[in-house]
Amino acid sequence: MRPYDIIVKKRDGGINTKEEIKYMIEKYVEGKIPDYQIASWLMAIYFKHMTSEERYNLTMTMLESGDKVDLSAIEGKKIDKHSTGGVGDKTTISLAPMVASIGLKVSKLSGRGLGHTGGTVDKLEAIPGFKTALSEEEFFKIANEKGVVVAGQTANIAPADKKIYALRDTTATVNEISLISASIMSKKLGIMSDGIVLDVKTGSGAFMKSIEESVELAKAMVDIAKKNGKKVTALVTNMDQPLGYTVGNSLEVLEAIQTVKGEIKNDFTELCLELSAHMVDLSGIMSYEKAKEEIQKNIYNGKVKEIMKEWIKSQGGNPEVVENPEKILNISNLTYDFISDKNGYITHIDAESVGISSMLLGAGRASKEDIIDTSVGIKIYKKLGDEVKVGEKIATLYYSEEKGYEEALKKLKESYIIKDEKPHENKTKLIYEIVK
Ligand code: URA
Repeated sequence: MRPYDIIVKKRDGGINTKEEIKYMIEKYVEGKIPDYQIASWLMAIYFKHMTSEERYNLTMTMLESGDKVDLSAIEGKKIDKHSTGGVGDKTTISLAPMVASIGLKVSKLSGRGLGHTGGTVDKLEAIPGFKTALSEEEFFKIANEKGVVVAGQTANIAPADKKIYALRDTTATVNEISLISASIMSKKLGIMSDGIVLDVKTGSGAFMKSIEESVELAKAMVDIAKKNGKKVTALVTNMDQPLGYTVGNSLEVLEAIQTVKGEIKNDFTELCLELSAHMVDLSGIMSYEKAKEEIQKNIYNGKVKEIMKEWIKSQGGNPEVVENPEKILNISNLTYDFISDKNGYITHIDAESVGISSMLLGAGRASKEDIIDTSVGIKIYKKLGDEVKVGEKIATLYYSEEKGYEEALKKLKESYIIKDEKPHENKTKLIYEIVK
């Protein structure tokens, strides 16, 4: 087999065999095929795409390059959730105790954030004392006893994807559906859960900007999961504005806590409920409709709140944070308000720019080495479709003395468009499609 022939075949619109795909990936990982040939092959895939079979073979080859995480030591049903990444996305923190209140086990391995989307691990570490580096024994014990555990990922899952992603990132070949779906699923199938709910984001803060492309990506991921025998549901959801009313670590934990206590109602709380109900439905414990009803009941009777407290305590965090989040969380007291200088309606929010604005405040990492400031971020008062008047507060920036707010404010202002007419209602819809 020669890499040249495999590249030519794909360049000319042909179908690569399982053996050819395996050869390219395995030899690349071994350092026996140079970057320029794999980059050329990736570019051919970018333009000619892959069949469902090719995508699956690519996924499995990358999956087989690393470890698998066996969750069989945890009793009961384990349903995983994965989001393709969005601004203000703290769903794991709220939905984990929600689904645990129904009896499902949530044992999640999460990552740190890079760029404009923060990672769940960073957000959880905003809780004083919360430990995300757990031994295997601690991880299984907490999952079995408390029903919820979230730890940083240490297993060497799909190392081939890591190497290929780094190359894609520098050769403008990230944004192709086969490559994205294989990349994500090679990592998710490495965690041996009983099923997975995928939250595929679409819009200005997502990888995929159009609904059509996002649905296509959701279908590709569902197809790979099913071929692997994994139960799966994908929701294509709105990322045309930040999720909820907070962006930034401590602020997002605050909103996640208010959500499990039933104190607020917005697009974020609604999404948590939807994803949770789909997770329960997938487990077979109860139907989607019944799960939604039961979870809401458990929010209002305090059961979800108690599970959250127990979970936080078992991972070393201060459980008092659930009762008094604003007292316990480190939220900067330096604030600056973004005030409207126009009358009208919010017709556009560039969610990615809001994420970058929050990163400029210090809430995210521009490079891997950056240290996150959990006390900074943005509280959002005006979202898509909201009416706004001159002098009204659109958002508040929580900043640090060190970084200031000026650059972040400029970016935030650029992300908002105010016009006389309300935006089309499709822009504020939360769920566009469900793919099973
Ligand atoms: N996230 C991934 O893990 N891989 C991609 O290719 C895109 C997003």
